[in-house]
Amino acid sequence: MTQTVRAAVQTGPGAFELRGLPLPKIGPDVGILRVEACDVCGSDVEQFKGHLGRPEMYPLIPGHEPLGVIEAVGERAAERWGVQPGDRVALEILVPCRSCDLCLTGRYMSCRNRQGAHGVTPLSREPGLWGGFAEYMYLHPNAILHPMRGDIAPELAVMFNPLGAGVRWACELGGAGMGDTVLILGPGQRGLMSVIAARTAGAGTIIVTGLTRDAGKLALAAEFGADHTVDVEQEDVVERVREITDGAMADVVLDLTPMAQQPIRDAMEAVAHGGRIVLAGLKGNEPVELVTDRLINKGVTVVGAYGVNADAYIEAIRIIESGRFPLERMHTHTFELADIQQAIEVLGDGEGVHVCVCPDGNGAG
Ligand SMILES: [Zn+2]
Ligand SMILES: [Zn+2]
Repeated sequence: MTQTVRAAVQTGPGAFELRGLPLPKIGPDVGILRVEACDVCGSDVEQFKGHLGRPEMYPLIPGHEPLGVIEAVGERAAERWGVQPGDRVALEILVPCRSCDLCLTGRYMSCRNRQGAHGVTPLSREPGLWGGFAEYMYLHPNAILHPMRGDIAPELAVMFNPLGAGVRWACELGGAGMGDTVLILGPGQRGLMSVIAARTAGAGTIIVTGLTRDAGKLALAAEFGADHTVDVEQEDVVERVREITDGAMADVVLDLTPMAQQPIRDAMEAVAHGGRIVLAGLKGNEPVELVTDRLINKGVTVVGAYGVNADAYIEAIRIIESGRFPLERMHTHTFELADIQQAIEVLGDGEGVHVCVCPDGNGAG
């Protein structure tokens, strides 16, 4: 008898239905993941609204930030991945070819021959279970998974993804290190995770900005180690940074604000001579007007943050396992599969900070 897998299937923009799908039989090179938790992220909100992808991708199972336990694994896959049934793993979004020049030089995020991507691959592509908003997921032979300790609550362990972004953007791309002044524009999930990453890397002064309605998130930023928070509706960001740093300004500036353009201009003014600006907040493909002379005269490096890589995920997993930060303070909502739409709305309207779906409904929060 075939086991039935419950999955939240998106059938089109704004439309979900719960379906029962067959659990595939596995060969020697693949595996099956029992999903413990899957993060809801900003792009799930966009995908739900139909702002991402093409009409022909539906129906599909969304969810691209999953954490789970190996349910079954083929003999050769077990050897390659170094896992056994019962092991907890963090699963990366992309399934690269592992053979092209980009893969071979560590830039697999940009792989030329992608074999799939979790949460955006259509149901029609066998065996269909590509998304994390389901009880089980298919593990393609080229899937990238990272072992993780099993004794941490799933809704905290699943934070490897946003925390990986914080590590990648603040430390790897931004170069935040010992003694640096780091300015983080935007106190959302990724902003808070960037505070943790910068703090872990030994940053000297961390400043986080937000709107008046972000007061709760700014307070959390302070709990995670931010030295100063700035309400941009009440204070001038650049002036505050000048005051705090005694004119030295910020070595690293991260823009994590969606759509807003003023933060880009603030970043240009608040960055120190020779500093770095990391751009990670999408602006809806709108042009941003810049005085590029400012960048030249300050010798500034501007970096675009595209995704997260294995280095950063592994570092994030170590930080979570260390138990050094009160991550539970950031987790606001756990939902069951049937409530997926509510989960997406709670994140989308700004009520939720960290929101995840636990398919078996066993999440603690
Ligand atoms: Zn995401
Ligand atoms: Zn490749």
